[in-house]
Amino acid sequence: MSRIRILSEHLANQIAAGEVVERPASVIKELLENSIDAGATTIDVQVEGGGVRLMRVADDGCGMDGDDVLLCIERHATSKLRDESQLSAIATLGFRGEALPSIGSVSRMTILSRLQGSESGTMADLRYGTLHAVRETGCSLGTIIEVRHLFGNVPARKKFLKSARTESYHIEEAVKNQAIAMPSVGFTLKFDNRTALDLPAGNDLETRVRQVFAYSGPMLSLEHLGAQEAETLQVGGYLLLPEAMSARAAKLRVLVNGRAVQDKMIRHAVSEGMRGFLMKGYQPAGAILLTIDPSLVDVNVHPSKREIRFRKSVEVHRIVTAVVSRAMERYQEESRSRLFRVESETKSDADTDQVAQVPQPESREPEISYPADEPEILPLPKKSLGSVPRTTVDRAATAGDVGSFKPETPKIEPVPAVRPPVVEKEMQPAEDFSELKLIGQLFSLYLLCEQDERLVVIDQHAAHERILYGRLRQGYLEKNIPMQQLMFPVTVELGPDHLELIEKNEDRFRELGVEVEFFGDTTWVVKSVPAAMKGMEPVEVFHEVLDAMQNSGGRSGVVAGGIDDVLAQMACKAAIKAGNRLAPEEMLSLLRQMQESDVFSHCPHGRPVIKEFSRQEIEKWFHRHGG
Ligand code: ADP
Ligand code: MG
Repeated sequence: MSRIRILSEHLANQIAAGEVVERPASVIKELLENSIDAGATTIDVQVEGGGVRLMRVADDGCGMDGDDVLLCIERHATSKLRDESQLSAIATLGFRGEALPSIGSVSRMTILSRLQGSESGTMADLRYGTLHAVRETGCSLGTIIEVRHLFGNVPARKKFLKSARTESYHIEEAVKNQAIAMPSVGFTLKFDNRTALDLPAGNDLETRVRQVFAYSGPMLSLEHLGAQEAETLQVGGYLLLPEAMSARAAKLRVLVNGRAVQDKMIRHAVSEGMRGFLMKGYQPAGAILLTIDPSLVDVNVHPSKREIRFRKSVEVHRIVTAVVSRAMERYQEESRSRLFRVESETKSDADTDQVAQVPQPESREPEISYPADEPEILPLPKKSLGSVPRTTVDRAATAGDVGSFKPETPKIEPVPAVRPPVVEKEMQPAEDFSELKLIGQLFSLYLLCEQDERLVVIDQHAAHERILYGRLRQGYLEKNIPMQQLMFPVTVELGPDHLELIEKNEDRFRELGVEVEFFGDTTWVVKSVPAAMKGMEPVEVFHEVLDAMQNSGGRSGVVAGGIDDVLAQMACKAAIKAGNRLAPEEMLSLLRQMQESDVFSHCPHGRPVIKEFSRQEIEKWFHRHGG
């Protein structure tokens, strides 16, 4: 007598439910997927008692006839797959025919459905997996599924549920994910009697992302940035600005072919694309939508279809990183043209393609370079930048002309002989800053400017830091950081740790713009420093670079990828400090450098450089509504 037996259908469903129905939110997810597969344009979700008492999903999709209502609760019954060949390119959200029987086996489920074009509908009533009643009934077009007493027959599972509030949170997440995947579909979500979401049908993606994230600030658009790969993979979506990210405990929603998935690879690729813009510990946030040929992705790898597998994941990673980094770049262009009225260079398709092929920002050509004869600081009369003679500022002589105070410790030093750009591209500097009017300096830290109907506040340290970082980085990548030869080389005495570091990394130091030479015993000589750090004492520069190298890689030097940290730290040390009073022409010079810099919105540590306040916002401070 054999001991092995085939499980009863009922038991099999309960076992499947163990995987498919982890918590109330999993039920909502499955029901929403079914409504979307049914072509619904509006989906209403109602939840009571954190989903345990009631979950009700009503849609206006295609509906089912009486036979299908009975079939859909059978195990492995689906209208979405016909044969094996379709399994390798699944285009619907569902395909296993497992959700309804699984949910039905651990709850009391009622299905009410009316097929488009049908006079009346069908009602089926299930109690913990057993069909209790079926009848014809009048109902609206589409399908309503009610799930009550979830896990009423499996107390062990019910015990594992969290508070109603936590379960509700997960339900809301599930609805939000689906709402972003389908911006044109209307969604409502009610908890008991509170409306948590009301997202109208016919939204575009941007509006939908704003609503879901309750965010009204600027966003990074990922739309239409990966022209080249359009055939196999399209990337779209919107990301929040780096500084808005952690503030709202925001998360990155990843949608692949309309399916919300958890994917570390995509997450990583987005972070990579934002490298140098994210603050430590911050995660990218927003929505990224991938549309990929279904045959290039396996969705059948996880019981609740939460994870997927890309057949060409390296490729996908590369493209996503390229698109995000291009979006950052476009954001810089837009900010620059808005603030400084510089003609935004509209990218041709060819440019976009090139970026898509070469994902690393380091391998991009500089778009704007510093003319060889341009000193770092330019004295600027209030108007007409074009007429300024290209000479180094003589602070004592000009400070009195433009402003009423003199700087105590001028820190922005003119840098001679900035290398001519490798590729000189046409750039049209604005004639003047007449549109961006400098008001003055606040707290010896912020530049206040006025533009149109806005107050523009610029963090002088962060701004300068980003500019120096950009220069150092470009120089580093071209293996040619502009250096400043010291007239009198200085010697430094080093301890054993530092000696080991410098012995192993002499070339690295050179690449970073610090030329050192062994002198004897524990002594080394510093012969040049990076031009960008010229304002500092050479010994200080040397120690900063040494420390930065040590911090980023331990004793033997920089580890892969750590070089950005080193460059950022160098820039940070060399930049104008908070607390430095600047003469008006120094402030104007900083603005000018921002104007010419291809990246300036965030410091290399991801802190924002610019904040803007609209006239309306300011009027609100004073309760001046409507004048
Ligand atoms: P799957 O989605 O994998 O096919 P389900 O158990 O979720 O499996 O659903 C079984 C079938 O029931 C579906 O294939 C579909 O034909 C039908 N169905 C489920 N929900 C709906 C709905 N809201 N509107 C129309 N048909 C539905
Ligand atoms: Mg389904």
